[in-house]
Amino acid sequence: MGFMADKKALIVGVASDRSIASGIAEAFVREGAEVAFTYQNDKLRGRVEKLAERLGQDTSLLFPCDVTSDEEIDAVFAGLAEHWDGLDVLVHSVGFAPREQLAGGFTESITREGYAISHDISAYSLAALAKAALPMMDGRDAAILALTYDAATKVVPNYNVMGLAKASLESCMRFLAADLGPKGIRVNAICPGVIQTDFTNWRFQLEADILDSTAEERQAEMLKTIPMGRLGTTENVADLVAFLVSDQSAYITGQAINITGGQLMEI
Ligand code: NAD
Repeated sequence: MGFMADKKALIVGVASDRSIASGIAEAFVREGAEVAFTYQNDKLRGRVEKLAERLGQDTSLLFPCDVTSDEEIDAVFAGLAEHWDGLDVLVHSVGFAPREQLAGGFTESITREGYAISHDISAYSLAALAKAALPMMDGRDAAILALTYDAATKVVPNYNVMGLAKASLESCMRFLAADLGPKGIRVNAICPGVIQTDFTNWRFQLEADILDSTAEERQAEMLKTIPMGRLGTTENVADLVAFLVSDQSAYITGQAINITGGQLMEI
């Protein structure tokens, strides 16, 4: 029996099989959890449904949820409550900033609108989801987990306003941990380094376009900064998430934990 047996988990943030959230779902199921999913919009529903089917999960536990909509967030938990008597785990694997915010210098790219959108989707959504999940989590030794990034505390070229949004997300995680600790609910974040995902491929290509280089060259340069000599995998990240939401980490809360292959600096 896995170390998440009898846990009921909601995962927010699957867009494809290469999403970190998909790897997290696989690890949860491997460890015995039941998993429900949200999907951002109708375009993504089919992919999330296929993942749920492949993992042997109940496909009636798929809910539309654009995190900018309070109505959709409320509907997720109303729907879930029809099937489950409680919720043990909430995973927030959501991030977004308008594309033009993620290229070029910080002052040149940032706008009031870009700031508002990236913070609403990437940071406020954690508070909104936690608030809506609370009635189902109360009294269950539950856990909430968010995915952050090093740019919350350091300057990473081109990440721009998303760095600010991740800083807000991490602070939100700590405030939630302080607020919900007395109810027995733990809240943590993990901070992956460079993981093999669509986002990372897109990022190497973006850098290559800016620097008149190739995505392969950008990746080779990046690998020089990673002592373990490889990019992280979604499986690596998922194993840490499973540990952090399980009873095996029962006294860890309010932390942002790095998983970077030892990377100390980026170039
Ligand atoms: P991904 O694109 O697969 O996941 C991002 C998810 O955010 C998608 O499922 C998308 O549907 C969702 N999303 C965006 N806007 C939304 C909205 N308005 N409403 C609901 N959902 C919305 O990318 P990923 O690489 O799996 O990233 C997942 C998380 O991990 C993000 O928070 C990202 O910042 C973080 N992260 C990724 C890496 C990496 O190397 N890929 C490194 C550090 C942190």
